[in-house]
Amino acid sequence: MVLCTSCGKRKAVIVVKSRGEALCKECFLRKFKDLVIKALTDARLTGGLGSKLVAVATSGGKDSSNALYVLNELKQTYGFDLIAIMVNEGIKGYRELKAKALRKLCKKLNVELIEVNLRKEVGVDIDEVASLYERGLIPFKPCTVCGVLRRYLVSLYAKELGANYVATGHNLDDEIQTFVMNLIRGDLRAIAREGIITSPGPEDVIPRFKPLYYITERESMAYFILRGLMTPHVECPYAKLSMRYKIRSLINYAEYRYPGSKYRLLKLKEEIKAKVEMPRTALRKCTICGMPSSRHICRACEMKEEISKALRELKLSKF
Ligand code: SF4
Ligand code: ZN
Repeated sequence: MVLCTSCGKRKAVIVVKSRGEALCKECFLRKFKDLVIKALTDARLTGGLGSKLVAVATSGGKDSSNALYVLNELKQTYGFDLIAIMVNEGIKGYRELKAKALRKLCKKLNVELIEVNLRKEVGVDIDEVASLYERGLIPFKPCTVCGVLRRYLVSLYAKELGANYVATGHNLDDEIQTFVMNLIRGDLRAIAREGIITSPGPEDVIPRFKPLYYITERESMAYFILRGLMTPHVECPYAKLSMRYKIRSLINYAEYRYPGSKYRLLKLKEEIKAKVEMPRTALRKCTICGMPSSRHICRACEMKEEISKALRELKLSKF
């Protein structure tokens, strides 16, 4: 039996090779919470959350459910209030199952859940976007549209609800996947932009932060199981089409062959970020929707326009 390296008394249930730790359930759950507090501290949030409203962008998956669970535990200590927002992207065989689990969790935690329907909001769902992409009618993959529109709707609703912050379920693996993707794209500006919290912007831009920034996917899964949280084991059918999916396998292989790769990549990203000074892009208001944007028309409105055009063309071709 491997003993917990933290308390030295109980049986270890998880080994974290990269940190040289073997932890029992109690110590692991405590460590998880400590890593969330570290993220809040590094984001300089611990002193400023009192009486604030934090909107958690939730999907019903393990990461955003864990973020919601831990923030719910911490809300009394730091004096903030919580609300959950879920965007229903309209992905058959996936979304409804995840939504059901999330509704149950929110009820258990007594956190209000705001459900936003993508089709009602923008006139299209991700199943339809995927079909347009497969026919070559739009250049965007489902994940690209889904990511941009979900982010857009979460910001819109968070603003309407009077939230001061948006918390997301991004974990350490997500963070380094994004880093490697940006490296491959040669996008230094994007590397400098990504972090635990978004850089301060104009007043009407709600800051987004990542409570699970220091937590690996594996630890997040272990926490989810050890907390007895439930979600159906279904994967989004479009995940495999994304660049992230391939990069994820590549990084997992590197971690398997060379343990500690993930932490080293995170450290490298932080070093680059600290050295690179990028001039901040001035934000204006999107001329279509009025949301803050660095461009004349925001990316979400640009995508909506292209999708509507493709849908119109498809309708005409059927006559
Ligand atoms: Fe959306 Fe892609 Fe995630 Fe599916 S895998 S929910 S399409 S971002
Ligand atoms: Zn817009």
